Amino acid sequence: MGKLAIVTGASRGIGAAIARKLASEGCDIVVNCISSTEKAEAVASECQAMGVNARAMAWDVADYEACRQAVQLIQKEMGTPEILVNNAGITRDGLLIRMKPEQFSSVIQACLTGTFYMTSLVGAQMLRARKGRIVNLASVSGIAGNAGQANYAAAKAGVIGLTKTAAKELGSRGITVNAIAPGFVETDMTASLSEKVQEEAKKRISLGRFGKAEEIAEIAAFLASDSASYITGQVIAADGGMAL
Ligand code: NAP
Repeated sequence: MGKLAIVTGASRGIGAAIARKLASEGCDIVVNCISSTEKAEAVASECQAMGVNARAMAWDVADYEACRQAVQLIQKEMGTPEILVNNAGITRDGLLIRMKPEQFSSVIQACLTGTFYMTSLVGAQMLRARKGRIVNLASVSGIAGNAGQANYAAAKAGVIGLTKTAAKELGSRGITVNAIAPGFVETDMTASLSEKVQEEAKKRISLGRFGKAEEIAEIAAFLASDSASYITGQVIAADGGMAL
């Protein structure tokens, strides 16, 4: 039996690529989503085809009780997770002065509060097991800010603070906590941007292109591996040189 990994938001995009990559390395996988159950089941089937145990499970990471029940069920039926990838996230872009309170709080809830809920619940199990790897998806927006993304940039900056704090609190029990800060990656999240915005963005990227979900998955798998045993509290930017 391989290590058990929970990947939130793994029905598509970066999360699905991380689930596939970890499965290819022999991990059992919980493929979480909020509503695309069929897509999550398809990703779980792909993982199973690689010979691991995989299960699609829909729950809202922004709902504490739903997280608590899911984490309890996973431990009962699949064992203690050794890897947690907090990847679920949403954008609801808009200029700061026009941003509605609900538009702000929904992004904070999904990106930041959900990461806190899952880290505290799974972190407690990892503490008892005295081992674990937590990988959080931040963003360059959380490092540099981004016009039109006050909600998202604040949430992702929060994820970075949470990552560093969790690394300090959990490190003495052999648990590492790191974050990845991608720039633009080809997923549904960036496909919704206009052609003009995409072309303008590419001009600011040294490598001249958007990243691929698989390129982010490689970093997540490294941070979750034994090879990264002495790395904790770090934020790995993967933005093709955009922030240079
Ligand atoms: P995506 O293609 O839009 O997929 C988002 C995933 O999150 C889906 O699986 C979705 O489930 C799930 N999700 C959303 N809200 C959820 C909730 N409340 N509870 C559980 N699952 C939820 O996103 P992506 O582009 O792959 O991004 C993945 C992560 O990387 C996010 O944290 C994002 O902020 C970060 N990131 C992305 C980029 C980029 O350029 N794409 C750049 C920097 C950072 P459903 O399918 O059920 O909706």
